Amino acid sequence: MSLRSVCLFLLVFVGVISAQSTPEQSAVATASSTAQSSSQSVSLPAGWEKRFQEAIVPENIRENMRRLSARPHHVGSPYDKDNAEWILAKFKEWGFDAKIETFNVLFPTPKERVVELLEPTKFRARMQEPALAIDPTSGQTAEQLPTYNAYSADGDVTAPLVYVNHGNREDYEQLDRLGISVKGAIVIARYGAGWRGIKPKVAGEHGAIGCIIYSDPKGDGFFHGDDYPSGGWRPRDGVQRGSVMDTEYPGDPLTPGVGATAGAKRLSVKDAATITKIPVLPLSYADALPLLSALKGPVAPENWRGALAITYHVGPGPAKVHLKVLSNWDIKPIYDVIGTLHGSDDGQWVIRGNHHDAWVNGADDPISGQAVMLEEARVLGELHRQGWTPKRTIIYCAWDGEEPGLLGSVEWVESHLDELQKHAVAYINSDSNGRGYFFPGGTQDLQTFISGVARDIQDPETHMSVFQRSHLASIAKAKDAEERTDLRKRNDLLVTAIGDGSDYTAFQDLAGISTLSVEFGDEDEGDQYHSIYDDFYWYTHFSDTDFFYGRALAQTAGTAMIRLADANLIPFDYSPQAEAIAKYETELEKLLKNKQDEFTERNLELREGVFAATADPHKPSVPPPAEVVPPYLNFAPMKNAIDLLKKSSDRYSKILSGWQAKGSPAIAPQSLDVVNADLLKIPRLFLNQKGLPERPWFKNQIYAPGAYTGYDAKPIAAVREYMDEKKWKEAEAQIPQVSQVIENVAAGINQAADDLERAVTGAR
Ligand SMILES: [Zn+2]
Repeated sequence: MSLRSVCLFLLVFVGVISAQSTPEQSAVATASSTAQSSSQSVSLPAGWEKRFQEAIVPENIRENMRRLSARPHHVGSPYDKDNAEWILAKFKEWGFDAKIETFNVLFPTPKERVVELLEPTKFRARMQEPALAIDPTSGQTAEQLPTYNAYSADGDVTAPLVYVNHGNREDYEQLDRLGISVKGAIVIARYGAGWRGIKPKVAGEHGAIGCIIYSDPKGDGFFHGDDYPSGGWRPRDGVQRGSVMDTEYPGDPLTPGVGATAGAKRLSVKDAATITKIPVLPLSYADALPLLSALKGPVAPENWRGALAITYHVGPGPAKVHLKVLSNWDIKPIYDVIGTLHGSDDGQWVIRGNHHDAWVNGADDPISGQAVMLEEARVLGELHRQGWTPKRTIIYCAWDGEEPGLLGSVEWVESHLDELQKHAVAYINSDSNGRGYFFPGGTQDLQTFISGVARDIQDPETHMSVFQRSHLASIAKAKDAEERTDLRKRNDLLVTAIGDGSDYTAFQDLAGISTLSVEFGDEDEGDQYHSIYDDFYWYTHFSDTDFFYGRALAQTAGTAMIRLADANLIPFDYSPQAEAIAKYETELEKLLKNKQDEFTERNLELREGVFAATADPHKPSVPPPAEVVPPYLNFAPMKNAIDLLKKSSDRYSKILSGWQAKGSPAIAPQSLDVVNADLLKIPRLFLNQKGLPERPWFKNQIYAPGAYTGYDAKPIAAVREYMDEKKWKEAEAQIPQVSQVIENVAAGINQAADDLERAVTGAR
């Protein structure tokens, strides 16, 4: 019923019609008028979904935010626990069966922090964000966590300073060209271009002994607009706190793979692989400016320069810096609040989550998402009181400990892995919300589904559908004509693959559960990410000030929850997923070809003496090293597997659309159960119990984060990561294993197609 085929030409046409329909029309639409809205129109009493959407109140979202962000509420703080208990009470008040699940995790807090310039002049970094008279919570100094990077190693080092741009691997290749080594040095990197935890990791791998990360105004400061408090952008003393935990596995560093319960076996802190190898501290640009100004050596390459009024030099020195970090390595309790609304059948679960812990007051991150999620739960509870019971069980999760390292969600999934794999249909995550566009992330078996939801929600400012606005924005943002042409032909929103940026990680990467990440954004007038200024005053002046996008997110996520819970047939659609996986494979081939071309050309230029001839004799420079040109790799097994996947997905879609074309006649309950059981198992088939070759915690062979990108997904990481490391033989050796997984998925879909065919033949 809610699943439909992807027949592009038909759907472009249908898409035009339904993109223009109002939520009112869609909520009562029949299957014949819009395929996209078929899930609710066929299987739901039309009224409930509409009632849900109309009952969301922006003022409630504002009040939730005011309450939850009133005081600093990081892991281990009194207000973190207070918030968890308040959320628990609310879940209960709204009729959920609710409890707090507690885990005990390693959470370091700073004992001593020093960054000082010793030569050529003296300066000591203040590392303190000043309170602002206009911003009432910015003065809660006694409860604020100091500025620091959690899971930095303890250390006390003094060394010359080197500026390394964003501190990614390619930045060090540039440094090599300049003839500069960071061995024995302290590096200073600017925030941005990848996850912060990668910066100390790569610095350490290149021999640096300390790492400073600062917020350049080009990233999120005055370069973009007026700074706080006259505008919303990060002010001179604003600091981005954040975790620098290594990417080997998320969650509690002491209990990899198992829940951090009271009796769990724990590693000792010195054996925890995810603590950095070198000390790290974050700085504001006010504190970084004297350090950067004291650097000499080559002028930084053009794309390394930020927005400060200085000439950016690379060093090393003459700036000499003393960096000291000492932490309290305490075990702290975290409080996951789990609220369940039992369905008429408890055997299948639809899960929704957003974290509640913050670095400081966290009005934007995470409360703008949490406040929305709670409003959804309130209204679902209200519908239940009015007589609606979801078919499947709905579970709302307010996670603790996301900021340090996805602690709450990872420990919960590790503790409940078997049950989740047996029962979970899907997990929908949010983390924060703002004004702007809706761009969904996740697994593409839900691409058709979430596109259908987005068609039925109105954008609060333009009054077009959320779908249409995002669709048109994606055309505006496309990188070339080919991409625009492709987007114009589509009638769905592309769901982008996600890695490990938030609490969906354990669901997708460890448990093999289909995920969606839903948020609005891109039009906020500022950013105070992980600083004391991310608070109620800032959010209500510079982000979604009237909480209308909060309402839109509640309507989107809540509608998705209702449809997933009530659809007779689980609304997965595999054609978009097969299409996405085929694209990931093509990207691997392209990557190989590009590397072959690049290295062939480079080796030729080395032989010709191009680098020697073009190097400015007055400036030191080193030619890049000669590279072995990569061999051809055999992608055939993967391409054959993807062919099978495409065939099985198309077959499933065809049977489904044939049945829908007949008006989706009722299927016998036993037959429906068989198909749903098949569908429930398919996402698990993406797992391989050995996990990724160098990160065995990550079991999913298609969706995973990069070890050197963080946040961003590296689809088919088992192969791609070795290619990035120029380990061609190892990359090739992974291809058959990934292909096997794709074949397993194809077989699973074929099974579902067989059973659906049998079911619809008997349907009347
Ligand atoms: Zn967050």
